[in-house]
Amino acid sequence: MSTSTIYMDYQATTPCDKRVLDEMLPYFCEDFGNPHSASHVMGLRAQDAVENARNQIARLVGAVDPKEIVFTSGATESNNLAIQGVARSYKEKGNRIITSVIEHKCILEACRAMGREGFEIIEIPILKNGLIDLQALEEAVNDQTILVSIMTVNNEIGTIQPINEISEICRKKDVLFHTDAAQAIGKIKVDASKVDLMSISGHKIYGPKGIGALYVRLRPRLKLFPIFFGGGQERRIRSGTLPSPLCVGLGKACELAQQNMHSESIKLAEFKDYFIKKIFDNLSKVYLNGDAKQSIPGCVNISFGGVEGEGIMLGMPDICISSGSACTSDSLEPSYVLEALAVNEDLAHSSLRIGFGRFTTFDEVEYVSSRIIETVNRLREMSPIWKG
Ligand SMILES: *Cc1c(COP(=O)(O)O)cnc(C)c1O
Repeated sequence: MSTSTIYMDYQATTPCDKRVLDEMLPYFCEDFGNPHSASHVMGLRAQDAVENARNQIARLVGAVDPKEIVFTSGATESNNLAIQGVARSYKEKGNRIITSVIEHKCILEACRAMGREGFEIIEIPILKNGLIDLQALEEAVNDQTILVSIMTVNNEIGTIQPINEISEICRKKDVLFHTDAAQAIGKIKVDASKVDLMSISGHKIYGPKGIGALYVRLRPRLKLFPIFFGGGQERRIRSGTLPSPLCVGLGKACELAQQNMHSESIKLAEFKDYFIKKIFDNLSKVYLNGDAKQSIPGCVNISFGGVEGEGIMLGMPDICISSGSACTSDSLEPSYVLEALAVNEDLAHSSLRIGFGRFTTFDEVEYVSSRIIETVNRLREMSPIWKG
């Protein structure tokens, strides 16, 4: 990153923490053994490192047994494994899978793929503040339902879903509950005891890209049909040689997340309050997307009436933020998440997502908020239709 570049897109990805990288390095060229080669010391050394990482992850997500952690290549794979795996294992029990309209694309597309295989997919709506409609959820769960998949924290608007309430609904009706916690872990306390399956990703928590995990409840045991077939690693759920350096990195990232979560969330909440107040004090016709309280501190999503998010970003090329959805931002379609919030199409096009994180400084928050205000004012003055 050049020194003049400011990174405020922590929901898209985070930089790898140097302490994470330092832990990983020996496992590339020195302790390079195959962690599944239990017959010699090099294999055992890699295996020890992987099992230590598994423990670190288990602690952060609140797993009772480290065996409940299955390594994957990231949250996309974890989510696919959860959805496809449950669908294929429980198709005798029923064919309904329930999710929400604001899930990450990898959940929605995995569900739709299952829909094409004959499953009935229900995408429940959300309320205006971005929280899921619990009543709609409760009504959607019928005796054919095998799985509910609702994310813990949304990646565009940062809202925190009522996991305990969703968990109660699922338990009462004896339905498996999966949550995509990629944006939640390290930011808020997550509790694996409330769910049956939970997805996490390394690169959202200052770990390396290309590694993630799926928490798979052991007791009572649940069945999960694999996506990959091979050597039967990871309790036969996910075959393939584990990338020991990446596993070690994810473990360290989880350990650091656990140590820093409290102090970081206080810092980020101050930044967010300051940022929002400054924008709202200095600009008219701005709208906060999502819920001001039920959301993580590191994520702000605001619509700026009369200007396009893309236009604001073009006006400040040294600042890395995101407009619309990160995954669809090379198409100019309005974000489906903002559409689901019943934000009108103009305002959906006018949104920016600003993400703060571990390495964000107050000076950067000050600078970026000023630049946004300046840029929005300039664009509005140039606009033939802007009426203040
Ligand atoms: C980033 C993200 C994913 C995808 O994770 P990868 O590890 O990049 O595959 C899934 N869900 C959410 C909520 C995310 O933020």
